[in-house]
Amino acid sequence: MEANSAFLIAALMMLANGGVLGLMHRDLPHTLRPSAVSWRIATLLHACACLMFMVREALPQGFILPLANGLVVFGFTGYWRALRQFYGVPDSPWIWLPGCAATAGVAWYAAVTPDSSARIAIISVAWMAILLCCVRHLASQQRRDRAVSRRVMTGLFIGVIGFVVLRAAYFIVTGTAPGDTETDGAAWINAVSPIVAAVIPVIGTTAFLLMCSERIRRQWERAASTDYLTGLANRRTLADVGAKRFAAALAKGQCGFGLAVIDIDHFKSINDRHGHDIGDVALKHVAAQLEAACREAELPARQGGEEFVVLFDGVDGAGAQAAGERLRLAVAARPFEAGGLALHLTVSIGVAVQQPGDSDFDCLLRRADSALYAAKAGGRNRVECAALEIGGATPNCLELEQYPH
Ligand code: GH3
Ligand code: MG
Ligand code: MG
Repeated sequence: MEANSAFLIAALMMLANGGVLGLMHRDLPHTLRPSAVSWRIATLLHACACLMFMVREALPQGFILPLANGLVVFGFTGYWRALRQFYGVPDSPWIWLPGCAATAGVAWYAAVTPDSSARIAIISVAWMAILLCCVRHLASQQRRDRAVSRRVMTGLFIGVIGFVVLRAAYFIVTGTAPGDTETDGAAWINAVSPIVAAVIPVIGTTAFLLMCSERIRRQWERAASTDYLTGLANRRTLADVGAKRFAAALAKGQCGFGLAVIDIDHFKSINDRHGHDIGDVALKHVAAQLEAACREAELPARQGGEEFVVLFDGVDGAGAQAAGERLRLAVAARPFEAGGLALHLTVSIGVAVQQPGDSDFDCLLRRADSALYAAKAGGRNRVECAALEIGGATPNCLELEQYPH
């Protein structure tokens, strides 16, 4: 296909993609919109660049070359900015520096001392620098998410970098100019350029939208699995993970799975004396102390109200008791401070370890709850270990609605 037709088709595809992104803009959450706007502007700049390259023969080279190359380099900067915004990196005016320097360089070597090799070298270095920054941002998320869309996007950027290197090397080594159609190599590169130019604006836009949908899916999953006040796992996650760990321990024939049910002592009086808002902050404080005191394999969760559960792994009765003590001391050691107040909060804890007689996770939870009742009855700020179930009979403390005061 002739290069100009390819540039026209590429420009139209880019405009169509930018339009689709514009239509979907309002469906995106507020946090993703700035990134989507930057992506759209970048796509628009690349579409304009394609149109400029189409008409480059008809206009003075000293004008059209810096303009078209500037549009491409600023378009790449726009993609870089979009990725930074996507990953919450603060905006910086410095990201525009490579684009400004490269456009000035191209203007100089197009209008003042025409030199196509110098132009190609300058613009290629700027493109590669910006594209490598994009790859760095994408690769830095490897640990946080394993999204296929992010990996596809990384691959697209790396592919374009490869082409930029190849193109620059060919033109500099052979001394040919990009507009040259005499040699086969230059003609081939010129024909492929519009297709490569469309890779990020077209395929990249699809990958970008998939990255957005992946982010939204994760946010929903997180919202559904965490407690909105404390940020700990919520009751639903606790039930899911607890049932899985219970079944896994049962399947392995081990009984090393245990848990602690933790209840803040006299919490109602905090609300009554200092108000519900301070009570909320106190709840967050206790949650943070518990989370900090948990080991890697342990899962802290908010069961509801002022009650928490921590799941243990690989513990026997003594281990669960020691783990419970660790949690109790962590809360007692750090008074809660808010608005000049220093409140000494304590927790009572009931621990239970999976026994062959436990039929399911709820059974284990009920035994720990009974132990918690005993801790409350025994004076609070203490840890009690659940008694063994005898003949499948569960201690019946749950029927009591309130702990003894
Ligand atoms: P005990 O030592 O026996 O556990 O006494 P307690 O006062 O902690 O127990 P009680 O069950 O009587 O009171 C629990 C209080 O927790 C009552 C309720 O107002 C408060 N509470 C439950 N959920 C929240 C919450 O999300 N925020 C606030 N601020 N308070 C809560
Ligand atoms: Mg309480
Ligand atoms: Mg309670």
